[in-house]
Amino acid sequence: MAKEDYYELLGVQKGVTAEEMKKAYRKKAVQFHPDKNPGNKEAEEMFKKVSHAYEVLSDPDKRAAYDRYGAGAFEGGGGAGPRGPAGGAGGFHDPFDIFREVFGQQGGGGGGGGIFDEMFGGGGGGRDGGRDGADLRYDLEITLEEAAKGVEKEISFRKAMACERCDGSGAEPGSKKITCSTCRGAGQIRRSGGIITFTQTCPTCGGAGVKVEKPCTACRGDGRVAKNTKLNVRIPPGVDTGSRLRSSGNGEAGQAGGNPGDLYIVLSVKEHEIFERQGEDLFCEIPIKFTLATLGGTIDVPTLNGKASLKIPAATPSGTTFRLRSKGMPSLRGGHQGDQLVRVQVEVPQSLTSEQRKILEEFARVSGDAAEPTSRSFFEKAKKFF
Ligand SMILES: [Zn+2]
Ligand SMILES: [Zn+2]
Repeated sequence: MAKEDYYELLGVQKGVTAEEMKKAYRKKAVQFHPDKNPGNKEAEEMFKKVSHAYEVLSDPDKRAAYDRYGAGAFEGGGGAGPRGPAGGAGGFHDPFDIFREVFGQQGGGGGGGGIFDEMFGGGGGGRDGGRDGADLRYDLEITLEEAAKGVEKEISFRKAMACERCDGSGAEPGSKKITCSTCRGAGQIRRSGGIITFTQTCPTCGGAGVKVEKPCTACRGDGRVAKNTKLNVRIPPGVDTGSRLRSSGNGEAGQAGGNPGDLYIVLSVKEHEIFERQGEDLFCEIPIKFTLATLGGTIDVPTLNGKASLKIPAATPSGTTFRLRSKGMPSLRGGHQGDQLVRVQVEVPQSLTSEQRKILEEFARVSGDAAEPTSRSFFEKAKKFF
């Protein structure tokens, strides 16, 4: 499901008049109508999307709500917005494909499937005559340490919640529900565009067939009001940038008995000063003295769990990579831990005291022309150039 804007679907600008929008809709509806495109799934899909977009935008209240929540319904934490009320497209940017990509790359290393699979099921339209609430997205940035150990975070955001005054019904307490005059209670209306007739969900009552006699004064008949809310979310160890968590039922409230939407938490892991993540492994580069590289010894290496010691054998060339088993990131599915890879960079002294210089000059003198194996083989090959 790609990012889709209702206005874009209809091919109009945001400030378009109702009349112009109707025209644009007619044109699209005729273009994609199933009768004109028999067996064409894409056209059928477009027809549904366009109809749904028009259904929302042709209703002044719904259009206002769409304009208002279409982007940035959350304070902080990045952009968020509702998906279409019937599971269609809307301000929910960033398709699910991104998630799959991220986990696809990790392949056998871990990540594919597992606990996140269930996220992609379900969704869908209103049940029981009501409208399901929109799904929401919250972008959350965490540190590498938090991603390694898991963390609980409190997030706060704004969303449409059931109105307390009318208990979500949209009707002013004491008032009755009356049959919708637009569809005469059918919930659907027939539209005719020249030779074509088709039915669509009634835009006045949203398919319920009834509407309230007197709209609730607190929510103006919507049944919901936008409120700030807080939620504790548990981030499991092993997540990576692009991981999504679904918090079921914590999206926007449904209307007229519809189910609430879901909240998707999309994670990004901050860059770390020392470690670079490579799947489940962590990579770092550590400078060592040329004397240590030559003579061998032990160094302290930072890990996500404090210090570890690493034995450097004598005669270690610069660029050698050592592996610290199970000091990397945990697998999202559990049971496995990546490694930490340490590449040593042999440092050349940048300034020498006169004593150091004397000793090194002496070292050079006693070494004479004796060369190490790598230079020997190099100069063998390079002979013809000299
Ligand atoms: Zn209300
Ligand atoms: Zn109706």
